[in-house]
Amino acid sequence: MDNCIFCKIVSGEIPCAKIWEDENYLAFLDINPNTKGMALVITKEHFDSYLFDMPEDMQAKFLTAANKVSRMLEKYFKISRVALVMEGMGINHAHLKLYPLHGVTDKFVEMWASEKKFFDKYEGYISTQLGPQADMAELNKLAEEIQL
Ligand SMILES: [Zn+2]
Repeated sequence: MDNCIFCKIVSGEIPCAKIWEDENYLAFLDINPNTKGMALVITKEHFDSYLFDMPEDMQAKFLTAANKVSRMLEKYFKISRVALVMEGMGINHAHLKLYPLHGVTDKFVEMWASEKKFFDKYEGYISTQLGPQADMAELNKLAEEIQL
């Protein structure tokens, strides 16, 4: 697609720090990492960035590709987990973001962010920290409405 930075990376017009590829997907290190080894897995074919609009077979293969890259990051950084985010609000080309969880070496250790925050609207990034505890009656009401 014209003027799509990720399509230009796939074509080689724009360089990237490639770490893995197969016939359908390409993985490279993010040019603006917020942690060492932050990587992107992108489709070689242009799809818009909202994952749930992709064909289902491509979604499944996309996750398999992210799995392969995550295992590479685990091995290299000697960590036990990599976080996966599919947000897609910066570049409108399908991509998965992989964040090595540095310092996490056991398969599971309970960890929580020290602060809680609630978002009334999207602020340009996703946070996984918890918000304040919700009222159960309000949650049940919302759940019922969502199911209608
Ligand atoms: Zn593209």
